[in-house]
Amino acid sequence: MAASMASQAAARGLRTATSKHLLLDKLKCTWRSPRRWLNLQEYQSKKLMQESGVAVQRFYVADTASEALEAAKRLDAKEIVLKAQILAGGRGKGVFDSGLKGGVHLTKDPAVVGELANKMLGFNLTTKQTPKDGVKVKMVMVAEALDISRETYFAILMDRACNGPVMVGSPQGGMDIEEVAASSPELIFKAADQIKRLYDLFLKVDATQVEVNPLGETPEGQVVCFDAKISFDDNAEFRQKAVFAMDDMTESDPTETEAAKWDLKYIGLDGNIACFVNGAGLAMATCDIIDLHGGKPANFLDLGGGVKERQVYEAFKLLTADPKVEAILVNIFGGIVNCAVIANGITKACRELELKVPLVVRLEGTNVNEAKRILSDSGLPITAAENLDDAARKAVAAIKK
Ligand code: GDP
Ligand code: MN
Repeated sequence: MAASMASQAAARGLRTATSKHLLLDKLKCTWRSPRRWLNLQEYQSKKLMQESGVAVQRFYVADTASEALEAAKRLDAKEIVLKAQILAGGRGKGVFDSGLKGGVHLTKDPAVVGELANKMLGFNLTTKQTPKDGVKVKMVMVAEALDISRETYFAILMDRACNGPVMVGSPQGGMDIEEVAASSPELIFKAADQIKRLYDLFLKVDATQVEVNPLGETPEGQVVCFDAKISFDDNAEFRQKAVFAMDDMTESDPTETEAAKWDLKYIGLDGNIACFVNGAGLAMATCDIIDLHGGKPANFLDLGGGVKERQVYEAFKLLTADPKVEAILVNIFGGIVNCAVIANGITKACRELELKVPLVVRLEGTNVNEAKRILSDSGLPITAAENLDDAARKAVAAIKK
């Protein structure tokens, strides 16, 4: 998997981020996507591939061991590959909490498929891209295994720096492409045909990423997508109804999902100070300064621009729903955002939600004086802060009391 893709996937999953680079990964992820990029399970991506004439192995999916066994028999293949379906990559090298090693298994015996599925379904699979407790496996893919004579990496990604899709390929095995072209030109043609189909698919479904790792070649010279990961542009949801209908949110953080409904970006962390900010840069600075004063952020919620009072209210609801939260720090810079709107949202939320934890507010920028007046006239126990440093200090102190 390309490093950036790995970090995106990791960014979605990691709940134990304390070090800054992990936080940075999370921020890059939320920063780049206005909402959330839809990811599908491998079997769903492969269905889309099939529909576009891309070569994938014959497969079934199963959610019980007996179904998996039946599927293995029905495939009637020389060899079978059983694959746990979770959104994270690195399954091959993953470990289940049932003790089973490996989320991808090859076997010639259908009975073994049943036994293996028994140790996969209902158990958590941990890979280098999942949270440390792993992700529960609810479905397995039972596919016809094919011999692979050469494994390559291939992806099409939407790339901002290039203003469009970029193809990324990495050959393995060190064979010169010129040599392949000379000795077996039909292989180049076949690969080109598959790549063309993958590109058509990329465009057709409004993908931000189509990643095939491995894109393999069989000894017979057939080019096959052995794995599939497709991510989609959420802004295209209106014209990709069928694709988005496949979204199952069961692997998503429910708070992140709820936040996305209100166009808010929520990221859960491990500490006890909730951070209510606007902009990824300010989020990072806020987390850093809390850290500097001996506190730990519980989460941060990025409000973005063009904010309405209702969003501020919903944001507070989300932040206070987290039982870890012992104080809230609001750090908003009003550029596009009008501070008075924020102040009204905050006071309304404080009253209606009967806020029980200390609240420290630092507002700066557009209409800040009016905002300060609204907060102080409210009679609510809100601690005003002069600047970010002051705000962080007061939030940390509020917890220690
Ligand atoms: P990932 O570990 O989550 O990326 O899962 P993959 O689908 O990529 O499977 C892991 C590895 O298993 C692949 O890189 C292949 O080396 C191997 N593999 C998967 N399917 C087959 C197959 O049909 N035949 C063979 N020989 N190897 C396979
Ligand atoms: Mn793979």
